Amino acid sequence: MNPTRRSFLKIGTGAAMASVLGFDLKAAYAESKELKIARTTETRSTCPYCAVSCGVIIHTIGDKAKNVTAQVVHVEGDPDHPINRGTLCPKGSSLMQDILNDRRLLKPQVRRPGSDHWEDIPWDQAYQEIARHIKKTRDETFVTTDSQGRTVNRLETIAWNGGCTDTNEFNYLAVKTMRSLGVCFIENQARV
Ligand code: SF4
Repeated sequence: MNPTRRSFLKIGTGAAMASVLGFDLKAAYAESKELKIARTTETRSTCPYCAVSCGVIIHTIGDKAKNVTAQVVHVEGDPDHPINRGTLCPKGSSLMQDILNDRRLLKPQVRRPGSDHWEDIPWDQAYQEIARHIKKTRDETFVTTDSQGRTVNRLETIAWNGGCTDTNEFNYLAVKTMRSLGVCFIENQARV
């Protein structure tokens, strides 16, 4: 909606009149908000922007039929979340614009040595390339003993950094996998 000055004044006057005449508009406003999320599916997640890791509820519309693409229609703070108790900072409040953004990356990308640009690659190719790089690096740099001859069996040339939207289960698997490779440097953006 792009109101003209005249229609803006009309709307303002209408609201003022309703108020003067004793109508309580709070219920109407609450009802319109309720209608917006009445048929949505709620998904609990974590704001990805910073290490505070506020809880969010993502409202999605769509009946989950096979040929239906679910659509995010609203994002709000999770009132049951112990960190933020329903609040979000301005950045977190704009999360929907991050989700519904035509500049959002949906495919793996790689920048080759010496290249000045990123290129899209298929997921299968990304998995294969990552696996090959990990094996090659590990084979070439795995440390079995330290300078005093003590057994250490560690890999100092690969690091792992998780994101704050990773679940506990995902983090558990990631840490197990990294430790099994000998990786020492393991971090998570949200320290969860
Ligand atoms: S809502 Fe703000 S404070 Fe909370 S995680 Fe997101 S960016 Fe950080």
